Amino acid sequence: MKKLNLPQIQDVSILHTLAQNQNLHKTSYPILRQQIHLVEAAYVDYTNSNGNPWNIANVGITADLQTALRKHYKSPPTSLNFIESLRDSSPEVCPMCGGFKPTELDHLLPKEDYPAWSVFSPNLVPACSCNRERGRLLKGRADKQARILHPYFDTCLQERILTTTFTHSNDFSLIRPKVCYVDDNHPEIESIKYHTKNVVIKNDIEGWIRGQLNTLVEFPANVVKGISRRRTIDKDELVEKLEDLLESYDEQTGSKNNWNSILVHGLLNAPQLHDWLVERHNDVVTR
Ligand SMILES: [Zn+2]
Repeated sequence: MKKLNLPQIQDVSILHTLAQNQNLHKTSYPILRQQIHLVEAAYVDYTNSNGNPWNIANVGITADLQTALRKHYKSPPTSLNFIESLRDSSPEVCPMCGGFKPTELDHLLPKEDYPAWSVFSPNLVPACSCNRERGRLLKGRADKQARILHPYFDTCLQERILTTTFTHSNDFSLIRPKVCYVDDNHPEIESIKYHTKNVVIKNDIEGWIRGQLNTLVEFPANVVKGISRRRTIDKDELVEKLEDLLESYDEQTGSKNNWNSILVHGLLNAPQLHDWLVERHNDVVTR
């Protein structure tokens, strides 16, 4: 999860270029020219509503124009070259789930249900495979106005939203992580929960954390990067290294809700694990 700046794309002017392209007679010409006022109005509505699907009205463009716009997304004519550049516009972290390697584009308003925005840059968000896990999910309960969060518009994504809590057996042979919310009373909590459940958890962040915990048990220094691999440490040093590591992951990704930070923030705030971690580390290095 990451707040991104809106892409600087001249969507309306690109739309006009597209509408006049007679080479596209098999797809959007001349139907786009005939209905361009509808698509333009849809673009304005989207921006004025800050991408909030509860406030955006769907648009009555014809079925053949719907198909044409979706086709243009799939095989873009040269006027839509910007689509390719958006795909790589957040290399450090997935803006949707906080995971790794975002090489796809997620239509925030799914193009199957909202075809008018198929090639509208504010609707195209770089994402990893969570894009496919989420599918067409967009809105939760109407009384809560819950919805998928929008990386170009939702400023709450700049805050630390997610952390990890741990429960463990007495001998620490079993540690169970759970991703949870930093502030249960956040004004956007309903959408935060809906987004987390349908994008972040669905992309199996907890499975990834379980994998990291297995590595941590083997040798804590392989997860708590920065602690000495050669000498023993005490609890103060562990906490200091966890604080440094959290800051470093936040800065490297430009997001406090990348998966590494969600894990490290949880470890930092789980003092019940600290003695055990120090002991485990010291065991390994003095072996
Ligand atoms: Zn993702």
